[in-house]
Amino acid sequence: MSDLVLKAEAVSKSYKDAGTEVKVLSDLDFSLASGEQMAIIGASGSGKSTLLNILGGLDTPTSGTVSINGENLHAGNEQRRAEIRNSTLGFVYQFHHLLPEFSALENVSMPLLMRSMPIEEVKAQAEEVLTAVGLSSRISHKPAQLSGGERQRVAIARALVGKPSVVLMDEPTGNLDRNTAQSVQALIDKLNSEFGIAFVLVTHDPELANKTGRVVELVDGKLVNC
Ligand code: ADP
Ligand code: MG
Repeated sequence: MSDLVLKAEAVSKSYKDAGTEVKVLSDLDFSLASGEQMAIIGASGSGKSTLLNILGGLDTPTSGTVSINGENLHAGNEQRRAEIRNSTLGFVYQFHHLLPEFSALENVSMPLLMRSMPIEEVKAQAEEVLTAVGLSSRISHKPAQLSGGERQRVAIARALVGKPSVVLMDEPTGNLDRNTAQSVQALIDKLNSEFGIAFVLVTHDPELANKTGRVVELVDGKLVNC
């Protein structure tokens, strides 16, 4: 077994816009080792979200391959892709995408409910992760009753509850004040060192980027080391 959790080979992505083809990713290669923490920076519109969505199986490349723990993510059908996402990947969106009518506990429970795990076990695990992100006293709150930082921590808890081997985060601290951003950053560090979860952070925040061991920049559709 390879100790690469994520590998992208010659990944290209183009969009057709009013007849003209816009090439966003161009023969991009990338690999992430088990337990590695890295940051992707780049100008607005350079394709960071597009890349993260492709790495997370939420979008398909025009050409090239993405493998997760050695399995080609785009070779199987949508159901298989959903299974890989559910068992191996956590995804934190730029805007938290929590379900507004559900409590923090219910939002965090969703990935486990999809695994048809017994409900008592689901609740126990969701509560454990919410406690780890410092929200044990907020589990019954709905998203509208939480602050921005708390919502982001619920989104992080939801990404972590399935014990993924890699978590992809799109601007995890983009909408947070400095203090809250620092607590999210500390949480990422803790989860990385305690559980060996690999993290890919797309970020504009130089402080957050530099805390990871590896910073790469997306330029002209390719990743370059910083
Ligand atoms: P970033 O996250 O780095 O700001 P994005 O990945 O969101 O950049 O977008 C990269 C480029 O791809 C932009 O020029 C954007 O307009 C274009 N793009 C993204 N999604 C689509 C789409 N669904 N259709 C057409 N163009 C798109
Ligand atoms: Mg983006």
